Amino acid sequence: MMTSNFVGGSFLLKNSNPKDIFIPEEFSEEQKMVFDLVKDFMLREVHGMGLEKLATLDAEKDREKVLEIFRKASESGLCGVSIDEQYGGMGLDFNTGLLYTEALSLGFSFATTIGCQTSIGSLPIVWYGNDEQKAKYLPGIASGELACSYCLTEPSAGSDANSGKTKAVLNAEGTHYILNGQKMWITNGGFADVYIVFAKIEGDDKLSAFIVEKKFGGIDLGKEEKKMGIKASSTVQVFFNNCPVPKENLLGERGKGFNMALNILNSGRIKIAAGGVGGIKFGMEKVIDYANQRVQFGVPISSFGAMKQKIGKMATMAFVLESGVYRVGDDVDKKHKELLASGSSGNDAKINAMREYAIECAILKIHGSEAMCNAADESIQIFGGMGYSMETGVEMAYRDARITKIYEGTNEINRMLSLAEFYKRGFQTKELDMKAAMKAVPMSVLNNWNPFSGGGDFGKEMELITNLKTVFLIITGSAGGKLKSKLVEEQEIVMNLADILAMAFLAESAFLRVAKLKASKATDQKELNIKVQMAQLFLYDALETARLAAKNAVDSYADGLTKWAMHKLVNGMLKSYAINPKDLRRNIANYYIEKGKF
Ligand SMILES: Cc1cc2nc3c(=O)[nH]c(=O)nc-3n(C[C@H](O)[C@H](O)[C@H](O)COP(=O)(O)OP(=O)(O)OC[C@H]3O[C@@H](n4cnc5c(N)ncnc54)[C@H](O)[C@@H]3O)c2cc1C
Repeated sequence: MMTSNFVGGSFLLKNSNPKDIFIPEEFSEEQKMVFDLVKDFMLREVHGMGLEKLATLDAEKDREKVLEIFRKASESGLCGVSIDEQYGGMGLDFNTGLLYTEALSLGFSFATTIGCQTSIGSLPIVWYGNDEQKAKYLPGIASGELACSYCLTEPSAGSDANSGKTKAVLNAEGTHYILNGQKMWITNGGFADVYIVFAKIEGDDKLSAFIVEKKFGGIDLGKEEKKMGIKASSTVQVFFNNCPVPKENLLGERGKGFNMALNILNSGRIKIAAGGVGGIKFGMEKVIDYANQRVQFGVPISSFGAMKQKIGKMATMAFVLESGVYRVGDDVDKKHKELLASGSSGNDAKINAMREYAIECAILKIHGSEAMCNAADESIQIFGGMGYSMETGVEMAYRDARITKIYEGTNEINRMLSLAEFYKRGFQTKELDMKAAMKAVPMSVLNNWNPFSGGGDFGKEMELITNLKTVFLIITGSAGGKLKSKLVEEQEIVMNLADILAMAFLAESAFLRVAKLKASKATDQKELNIKVQMAQLFLYDALETARLAAKNAVDSYADGLTKWAMHKLVNGMLKSYAINPKDLRRNIANYYIEKGKF
């Protein structure tokens, strides 16, 4: 097996060096220009129509307006970000693509429309297409001439996507697959020219993927779905009735469609988190502006501790997520380069670099979507009655954000997936060195007999983060020992373990970032001080989340002496972390209230 410096999930088994991770402060001027290009577009073309109009824009009634914005986005180059330059795209690396996605989130429904075009709708061809398929489809997708969509879900196959019934049968002449079936919830489906369709060939039990053009015929569309949010985004059912698909439009290998679907979703998942970062930051601008102007009891409401607490929490989550998202985005790029250097083909390198970080992508998707939904909810609260009005756009953010906990795999599925992937890499493929990790556990536990033994920058915090990882490993080992293969059926325990795992990753990402910033002479000390406080505040909350999750897990599977010992161990390792959360939230909020934005 090739030894690699970039191993997904390895955050759990070793402590990273801050020098080795990417932090958002390191984005180049060119990368920031991509962000500004997208942000300016969204503010001009989408917000420019007025938030009340945007909130009522309807994918069916306002199709012309939706397509007009889609066309303008294409003309500005926004549809070709992940497509190589030789096919007319921008050929951005993955991490810059995440920065692009952060800015895209300002487009509300249009973030979904354009996000589908640049991600799930086109990446199957970018990553799995052969040269002919790329040459035929990618230039049109990059220019926006061809709108595209991704058809995996069916009425009876949602989370259980591999159970789809759509069938492809080769015709007697051997020239075309004849496609029959029904897809549901298809984003961009109402106006797409190209559909990536997942279907089973003849009697196969595994999915394959096809590039299907609307003009092939045999395609009927349902009416636009009436949805809670992202109302301007087209979502329809797509029916295939003897749709003839040329044989050469089979995408990738027969029977490998499900792997492809999952890998495309890995990329979609981290993009949801990048969108969450953008959404929370933008929400903060709006909230701070309003809270500074709105006077009650003779003072701006931004002066109230109850409001500062919310603003401090929003900023902290944007900071922590941002630390995790761009750390992983850069790791994907580095892994990609490493694979190319070791002789992988262009497609394989892209696919395997993404697959490597499935655990991290699932964690980021869950916590990005949940933080964004919480932030939207708290924004309404800060706006009071005006938050409930369509005029301000805040209720639209609340409705639009909610879908992110459902699509690209529900958050329950992603929690299970983060654990399943960890088991697979640790015990089946052995990509993670579990033996060494388990050997280190007793030492890690012993270290805890000293109050705080870690030294150096953030030694105390890094020790607590190591303990979060150790607690995860110990409970996983102990529950696995007792329940064996039945552990996967005890989903409540799996959810608890996934939360401990996520807290370790997110807290570590935040502290690695501030440690790197602290070591850099160029860092503004006032800003660093606030970033340190955000990392500390997150760790304080993360320990509480992990303590509760650990208690729930242990009380759910253990009894007798094991239960007693496990509680003792968890309490000893997840020690009290003495900060003043009120002061920290207030300091953080005051800093951003004064600055006016994140
Ligand atoms: C607006 C919108 C746009 C979408 N766009 C697309 C698109 O472009 N292309 C596409 O293919 N799909 C798309 N989807 C579909 C989306 O990916 C699915 O809705 C999602 O995967 C969940 O499937 P489901 O709705 O059938 O829910 P279900 O799978 O029925 O899940 C319902 C509940 O049961 C839980 N559940 C399911 N299985 C398990 C399990 N094994 N263990 C524990 N809990 C479980 C889920 O977590 C969830 O809480 C879109 C959906 C929406 C609403």
